[in-house]
Amino acid sequence: MAFSERITRLKSSLIREILAAAQRPEVMSFAGGLPAEEMLPTLDWSQMPISMGQYGMSEGEPALREAIAAEARALGVPCEASQVLIVSGSQQTLDLASKLFIDPGTKVLLEAPTYLAALQAFQLFGAECIAVPQEADGPHLQALEEQLERQRPAFAYLIPTFQNPSAVRYSEAKRDAVAALLDRYQVTLIEDEPYRELVFDAGSATPIVSRLRKASWIYTGTVSKTLLPGLRVGYLIATPDLYPHLLRLKQSADLHTNRVGQWQALQWLGTERYAEHLAELRDFYRLRRDAMQAALVEHFSDLAEWQIPQGGLFFWLQLKQPQDTRLLLDAALAQNVAFMPGEPFFIDPDREPGYLRLNFSHVAPERLGEGLRRLASVVRQGLAA
Ligand code: PMP
Repeated sequence: MAFSERITRLKSSLIREILAAAQRPEVMSFAGGLPAEEMLPTLDWSQMPISMGQYGMSEGEPALREAIAAEARALGVPCEASQVLIVSGSQQTLDLASKLFIDPGTKVLLEAPTYLAALQAFQLFGAECIAVPQEADGPHLQALEEQLERQRPAFAYLIPTFQNPSAVRYSEAKRDAVAALLDRYQVTLIEDEPYRELVFDAGSATPIVSRLRKASWIYTGTVSKTLLPGLRVGYLIATPDLYPHLLRLKQSADLHTNRVGQWQALQWLGTERYAEHLAELRDFYRLRRDAMQAALVEHFSDLAEWQIPQGGLFFWLQLKQPQDTRLLLDAALAQNVAFMPGEPFFIDPDREPGYLRLNFSHVAPERLGEGLRRLASVVRQGLAA
């Protein structure tokens, strides 16, 4: 069969296999980034105009674009509604940006670790990915500057607020420093912020794109983590030099994002009801975060180190004695526990053993301790093997 050369770059996805196994009701899953089911809002469709069933504009629904631009301006992002493109989840932003920037061999700069589905999207188009190590407050600045200067990547892809998987939130100082470096080397920034609203402890920092003076940028967000991932509604905001290209790529990909989802998102964004929902979500997830922290202290203190996440959906554990955590999966699943091995979040998985990503939003607190007890025993057996 004559498939494209590109398809050979798609590696089999360990993640899909884990998530499939995690669907079994008896499995306690710390694997996916699933919102808690009990926090998905009930949706009212009764007022939706019939016209939402028609074809729509590739840019997205005008009122939704206005609402998103207004929210972004309130965050400090300088933009107009004309710069907003509604996409089928922020994952589509990564696909469109790949098509815009990446030919085989194009250099792309990422955090190490980074969101693995971004890595896959970029690699599909043949990107040569370059990593900058992540520290507790953001990227290692000297490494970032060296890579920008030497490699001149087509863009930098960063997740500065409660990163997936590491939960790192960049400090104010690092946000400023990163913006200054991107400006100096004129490297486009793709800033991905699905977790901005899921903040449990005080403090918020304006996006890096709002600090840029020269570099082009794409800022992307989604309603997946705050409303429902099944709506498949996200957005990108882009500088005017990039926007027309992204719009044409969107058009050729799927004409436009589903209008019923856009209509529903518009019923929420910017409303009092949405603010209340977000407040409930934060309280709910904060309790789950605290429950997992307590259980981790009980079962993992001698095995791993971690920071307490101040937002987002994940704990990122570094084993004190590194081992390839992919090899622990079968044993964990045999114990009806699913987790996400850390290796696939790195460009070179085989060189980065010893991390686990644990989602804290999905498993109920009363079951969580037992799940982590089993996982800790699997890690111990792995060490003994
Ligand atoms: N970026 C990051 C960092 C994510 O964690 C996710 C969801 N796991 C996405 C993008 C994709 O989200 P969406 O559902 O909006 O496509």
